[in-house]
Amino acid sequence: MPEKVVIIGSGPAGWTAAIYAARANLQPLVFEGAITEENQIKGTLPLGQLNLTTEVENYPGFPEGDSREYLRTALPPAVQPYLAQANKPQPSPGINGPELMALMRQQAINFGTRVITEDILRVDLQRYPFILVPSDTADQAERPPVEALTVIIATGARANYLGLPSEDQFKNRGVSACAVCDGALPRFRNKPLVVVGGGDSAVEEATYLTKFASQVYMVHRRDELRASKIMQGRALANPKITMKWNRALQEVLGNESDGVTGARLASTVDKETEEVASSGVFLAIGHTPNTDFLRGQVELDKAGYIRWTVPQRTYTSVEGVFAAGDVADSYYRQAVTAAGTGCMAALDAERWLAARGEH
Ligand code: FAD
Repeated sequence: MPEKVVIIGSGPAGWTAAIYAARANLQPLVFEGAITEENQIKGTLPLGQLNLTTEVENYPGFPEGDSREYLRTALPPAVQPYLAQANKPQPSPGINGPELMALMRQQAINFGTRVITEDILRVDLQRYPFILVPSDTADQAERPPVEALTVIIATGARANYLGLPSEDQFKNRGVSACAVCDGALPRFRNKPLVVVGGGDSAVEEATYLTKFASQVYMVHRRDELRASKIMQGRALANPKITMKWNRALQEVLGNESDGVTGARLASTVDKETEEVASSGVFLAIGHTPNTDFLRGQVELDKAGYIRWTVPQRTYTSVEGVFAAGDVADSYYRQAVTAAGTGCMAALDAERWLAARGEH
């Protein structure tokens, strides 16, 4: 019997899709990814990108502080009677990424989601039911293929890093690949910061960080930005942004107790190096969507992201195959938007099956 819904991927998009599909009685099967050294190096172990971070301060519903007190005081007295149900002790102030992901996974399982801790290696989406070929890490081989009536692809993307050992050493202690996620953290406030990159998103990240930082150094290998003219103008006119032209990040500097304290930059035109004091180093050199296993099967854009084919829907170029989260979204790249499109994909899959009389 083919599966009604197979979900590939285990970030906020995948688990939200699973929660909705399970509650719609579709008995979803999730391939959450394999625990392998290769996935560890790439940053694609199960539970997705949030499993690589610490505090998550912008996922709604998990404010830092005393949640019990918030529940008592958050609303004006006139509406407080409506809170009677919610006024239960809440043990955890705020949430971190790995906790949030473990809870999403559990929530999906509570509604009957089945989970396999393997990668999908190959797909055949030209056949129907669709064919998915999982890995078998134990046997270093392939498992028997799985047949599916609908597929939700939620394999996410991964931030690109330069590959310096010092980057790894200080990840979550000053090295970040997401200004919107981390910029407001106390360790970056009123401190000088470094942004590496020269495209539109590097300018966006640098501009965003100027809201918190005392100074932002933009480190770029060339003597002009790749960003669009309008973005270039914005960066160059910002008094808090200092361009470090013709420079590459050579090493992130820091120590055990303080994390990042600076960056050593190497000139790309001569042998000069310089050190700048900085509490954070933000990499803004792009992302790589996890779509290698889909090539030739579903339409991807130039950068390898899955193309959503209908506005406000999670449809892809293959009917019955839906995409959710960062794998199809190079623009917002947030946990809450990934979860939102995960919900949409499950509803789209359910309605698609219903229209065919298969659910
Ligand atoms: P992902 O989280 O990318 O997860 C997809 C997962 O699917 C992969 O990790 C892998 O385990 C699995 N997978 C991949 N390929 C396969 C395959 N072939 N077969 C099976 N499984 C596969 N966002 C916020 O909103 N707030 C934050 O504070 C925040 N902090 C961040 C900090 C860091 C360091 C990073 C890197 C990102 C952060 N983000 C944050 C962004 C957020 O994590 C992403 O937007 C979100 O996780 C995207 O979710 P997703 O479900 O699309 O996929």
